[in-house]
Amino acid sequence: MHGVTALILLIAISSVAAGQWGTICAGQPSNKIRGCDRHGCGHYNAPRGVKKHKGVDVVCTDGSAVYAPFAGKIDRQAKPYGNSNAIDNGIQLSGGGFCIKMFYIKPVKYSGTIKKGEKIGVLLPMQSVYRGITSHVHIQNCDLTNPTSNL
Ligand SMILES: [Zn+2]
Repeated sequence: MHGVTALILLIAISSVAAGQWGTICAGQPSNKIRGCDRHGCGHYNAPRGVKKHKGVDVVCTDGSAVYAPFAGKIDRQAKPYGNSNAIDNGIQLSGGGFCIKMFYIKPVKYSGTIKKGEKIGVLLPMQSVYRGITSHVHIQNCDLTNPTSNL
């Protein structure tokens, strides 16, 4: 095999995140996107009743550490539902031209600067709300464009 080809193959099969963002969840270095389960699918634009899923779901286990995907700051708390259920929490963060919301995490703080890879929270008990779901961090761009290529 040609040396360059071998190198490209090595990069392609490595398990580190492929996009510009770092690892989102402890134990998931490849930022694997949730497939389909009985509660729905995890990719961008997946159906959600009459609406569409305007984010991506990165596989994560309940209670796992969640990390900042890029350097910047935490803008504010951001809740997915506003109904105060067990997974109704998250944050908005921005930096380096990115602005995202991350849902279903218990944040360690709601403001201040963050480094890429810094622990910003833990995944809330998603199984207690959606039993049998593939537990995940929901990530959406603030402008609701597709964030998948950054993962
Ligand atoms: Zn989602």
